[in-house]
Amino acid sequence: MHSASPERDPDAPAADPRRLPRITDLGQLRLLSRIVDQVGEGVAVADNDARIVYANAEFARMHRFDLADLQARRFMGSDFYTDEDWAGPVQTLMRDALQTGIGRCEVSRRRTDGTTFTAAVTLSTLRDDAGDLVGRVLCVRDVTERCEALAQLLSNERRLADAQAIARLGSWEWDLVTDKLSLSEQLFIILDLPCDEEPTYQAFLLRVHPDDRSSVQEAVSAAMATREPFEVTYRVTTGHGERIVHARGDVVADADGAPALMRGTAQDVTEAKVAEASLREANARLAELATRDQLTGLTNRALFSDRLDQALALGRRGRRNVAVLFVDIDRFKTVNDSLGHHCGDEVLVEVARRIVGALRSSDTVARLGGDEFAVLLGGSSTPEEAAGAAERVLLALRPPFLGAGIEFFVGASIGVALWPEDCSSKEQLLQHADVAMYRAKGAGGNRFEMFQPAMTVAAHERLKLEADLRRAVDGDELFLRYHPQVNLATGQVIGVEALVRWANPVRGEVLPSTFIPLAEETALIVPIGRWVLTHACRQAARWRAELDTPLCMAVNVSPLQLAQPDFVSDVIEALEETGLPADALELEVTESILIDEAGSAIQTLRALRQLGVGLAIDDFGTGYSSLASLRRFLVDRVKLDMSLIAELGKGDDSAREGSGALVAAAINLAHALGLETVAEGISHTRQVETLNRFGCEQGQGFYWTEPLLASELPTWLVQGRPDRRER
Ligand code: C2E
Ligand code: MG
Ligand code: MG
Repeated sequence: MHSASPERDPDAPAADPRRLPRITDLGQLRLLSRIVDQVGEGVAVADNDARIVYANAEFARMHRFDLADLQARRFMGSDFYTDEDWAGPVQTLMRDALQTGIGRCEVSRRRTDGTTFTAAVTLSTLRDDAGDLVGRVLCVRDVTERCEALAQLLSNERRLADAQAIARLGSWEWDLVTDKLSLSEQLFIILDLPCDEEPTYQAFLLRVHPDDRSSVQEAVSAAMATREPFEVTYRVTTGHGERIVHARGDVVADADGAPALMRGTAQDVTEAKVAEASLREANARLAELATRDQLTGLTNRALFSDRLDQALALGRRGRRNVAVLFVDIDRFKTVNDSLGHHCGDEVLVEVARRIVGALRSSDTVARLGGDEFAVLLGGSSTPEEAAGAAERVLLALRPPFLGAGIEFFVGASIGVALWPEDCSSKEQLLQHADVAMYRAKGAGGNRFEMFQPAMTVAAHERLKLEADLRRAVDGDELFLRYHPQVNLATGQVIGVEALVRWANPVRGEVLPSTFIPLAEETALIVPIGRWVLTHACRQAARWRAELDTPLCMAVNVSPLQLAQPDFVSDVIEALEETGLPADALELEVTESILIDEAGSAIQTLRALRQLGVGLAIDDFGTGYSSLASLRRFLVDRVKLDMSLIAELGKGDDSAREGSGALVAAAINLAHALGLETVAEGISHTRQVETLNRFGCEQGQGFYWTEPLLASELPTWLVQGRPDRRER
């Protein structure tokens, strides 16, 4: 192609200074044209009127022209460019070419079919020997691919930088020869180093927490010595607080194998470490949840089972005994129902504390659920040692508990079983401790029982008893006996207490002590109680009519019955149906319900009072000693428990000493509260005398008679009463 060289070719024919030099030789032209085609760029030459006078094949191809059409085209016409490029870079290009002889720019060029490509454009002027402009040469190179690749590269770089910023990850390189440290932008941010200063290893080390510096230096030295990659985690103190950084690096050796360069990455892992720590904490908490009882902090059932497995495995190897105690709180349901669940929880926590305090640290105390605790004695235990542990637990539970502002007592029933003495497997050991515990409960609670093989038989019997009792309630196997209540001063019978019996076809007459606890546990006491109430009222109404005496009827009521929402209406119904006046009925409740200060039991008692029904506290002196609160509950009478009376009459009963003093104090207290007293379980004349002396108003006991059948009472009233029997 023609160049704009000011030197004239000596071999060229003389040129017309006003025109483009002409190539006259066709062969020469073809050759030249072929050479220009080889340059791989589009080349076009235009005359002073900007009309294309020559274009190579590449120029035509890249613009999708037909070479034949080209001549008519304007060289730098605006139809080659976008409006934007035409207004900006193309104008500059033309100006540069005019002023300096050459202009360059990268623009988007339009093809004839409307598509575009990115072009590197060079425009140069063509002048004749006199320096006059005779034309222009345009070289166009398609750089679309390069531009796209570059854009891709830039975008990748930007994405990498973004990713590094998100990951808080930076890269570093440390030239060990020049000591120059290069850090990526992100690392300046992580280490909080000034961007405008050249970073040094020393400046970096100063950022590292003083306690971590030596470990960083050691890791670096070790890597240099071994040429092995290294990893180190350290804290850095920055303007925005302390951060945790995890760095990795490796050593690049020179041709002689000497360390020349170290490079690697460093990542701000503060959040990850914090998350890791809280995950660890959460895991520890989960493990805790899985093995601990949340309320008491004791070992839970699962962990207890594990410990027992271990103890049995050790026992098998070392021929050692394993002892298990099952501890069940007595009447816990009453505490819970009457004092509220919050207080119940407090009791459980206190019970746990006391059990733990009573045992050795090597013993495992667990809460199995509800009011059930279990103890695995550490080391080998003899039956005596196991019994000793059970005794210590009972002793620890003896002092009163405080809840809802009152003092009360909590006993426990404990079952003790030993392996391999009593059984061969873990399941059996647990079952035996359970059976022994039920035996302790059945015997009145607040005691422990060592497992005995006969107990499993008893446990089975219990199941059978339950089934039989259900049938008894539905069938007609219940009946009542009546125990007279006597005015101690006059000897006059003032009323009777209805006592339920079960006529079992096989067992004969079953006493309430055998089936009432079971009935209470299974809620069968509700239908039983309803039956007793109606029958007792009916009997009383009949006697009052037939015998013409104002006989009163006392009926025992269980806490569970009292808690029934329709209990008051049951009482009203029984009175209406039988025609018994309300004041001829007295309901006996136990002290335990009185600890419910605000609960529904008190509401029920108030409603009963309003009906005119009498209320008595039964078995006073055996449980929740809250006599001081009796007045608030409007009871009429207090029945002193048999166990208090039993001690009377054995020696010199004085109101100042021993059991005499206790009974006298209880009677005085009752009187001070305006309540009458009934002494239960009187069997000696001396007891009658002593109680009379203490001012006790009424008595009940085998001294007069054992509980009578309905058919026996009228005769006894006439004939039997004068015949008091010493027992
Ligand atoms: P409780 O209400 O304290 O009844 C008095 C118990 O003491 C009766 O026993 C009676 O026979 C016995 N007893 C009275 N005097 C003497 C005596 O001098 N010597 C001896 N050894 N015993 C005497 P029972 O009939 O076996 O009743 C036991 C308990 O069963 C009752 O104690 C009461 O708590 C409960 N019970 C009885 N019937 C019913 C009932 O219908 N419903 C409910 N919920 N409980 C009942
Ligand atoms: Mg009673
Ligand atoms: Mg009683």
